[in-house]
Amino acid sequence: MSIDTKHIQTQFPILGEKVNNHTIVYLDNAATTQKPNIVLDAEINYYRTINSNVHRGIHTLSQLATMEMEESRKVVQSFINAKKDYEIIFTKGTTEGINLVASGLERLLKAGDEIIISQLEHHSNIVPWQLLANRKDLILKIIPVDEHGDLILEDYKNLLTEKTKLVAVNHVSNALGVVNPIESIIQLAHQAGAYVLIDGAQSIPHLKVDVQELDADFYVFSAHKMYGPTGVGILYGKEHLLEVMDPYQGGGEMIKEVTFEKTTFAELPFKFEAGTPNIAGNIVLRKSIEFIQSLGLKNIQHHEDELLKYATQKLEEIENLTIYSKNAKQRAGLISFNLDIANTNSSDVGFILDKHGIAVRTGHHCAQPIMKRFEIPGTIRASFAVYNTLEDIDLLVNGIQEAKKMLL
Ligand SMILES: *Cc1c(COP(=O)(O)O)cnc(C)c1O
Repeated sequence: MSIDTKHIQTQFPILGEKVNNHTIVYLDNAATTQKPNIVLDAEINYYRTINSNVHRGIHTLSQLATMEMEESRKVVQSFINAKKDYEIIFTKGTTEGINLVASGLERLLKAGDEIIISQLEHHSNIVPWQLLANRKDLILKIIPVDEHGDLILEDYKNLLTEKTKLVAVNHVSNALGVVNPIESIIQLAHQAGAYVLIDGAQSIPHLKVDVQELDADFYVFSAHKMYGPTGVGILYGKEHLLEVMDPYQGGGEMIKEVTFEKTTFAELPFKFEAGTPNIAGNIVLRKSIEFIQSLGLKNIQHHEDELLKYATQKLEEIENLTIYSKNAKQRAGLISFNLDIANTNSSDVGFILDKHGIAVRTGHHCAQPIMKRFEIPGTIRASFAVYNTLEDIDLLVNGIQEAKKMLL
């Protein structure tokens, strides 16, 4: 393993903090990752040295802030290999990115058109499409999953028709950690004449993403799940689609000319960036990408795969414990499981783990349909980042054993 976790941990001040008298074991990275010093310092440094509004002022600070933000856009562009920097839209997160696309496509869709999502989606890749379907009388179709949590591609093929306009699926499931075969999903959608939005919130910190190679039409993610700040996200969209979509919000910065009769919109990307953005956050996102690149995504992925393998092996040794999607074709970044003890639920276990300073997520993970598919109210989810260690997993396993004793 070329990842030096001891050294990496020193770059994350919060990991030295105590929770309930235990040094924190942070295994809730799929909800949000911790932030390294390079990100924390850049945030405060921005406000200390160049704080100013962007794209507006002639004055020096405003020019510096604008330059830094546009430089960050270019870093994101190269990180996901987008063709043009103006195909990178700053948003406040994955949720806003998906809502932006749903709203931007609205005028281009008509009653009877079809949108396909999957059973494995986060609520933020379900509800915006439901709302849109209700407004426009569209049909929402669902790709089912098999008993491993893998999407059933045969069923997906049968769902695609000439009325399918958009397919929206996640790259990696936040509830089960399943990696979806998005290459095939995109290819099949394109053959049917449909566009594809990929929810990359759980893939971007773990897997190398090349939007051109994938040929994704839209790819969305959040900075806060990749060691960056909250309130910042990215929508990548192909130029020709962003061009024909309607703006999401109206306001300053997104216009060319405003009269009371008519407003013309600014060119990309500004058409989709109404109002003062999260300037500091947008600038600082660059630092979280630099952090990832300094370690290398391949190395990060390898390290996290080792953690996943070890966690699977250790948890398998515990009796009366069910791991979900253990035999999925590919998994990344997290493990979802339950103790099979009558009259207890995932949050009882989460509560006991917290007493040991261990942070995991419990419950439905904003993905109620997939919980329903497996007929469970929720799971215990341990999700990994580059600073996690095999010892973290040993502590988790000890905590689970403790919980078992208390709950049995
Ligand atoms: C976290 C997450 C989202 C929502 O991201 P926000 O940052 O809360 O907007 C959407 N999809 C998946 C798969 C996620 O993990």
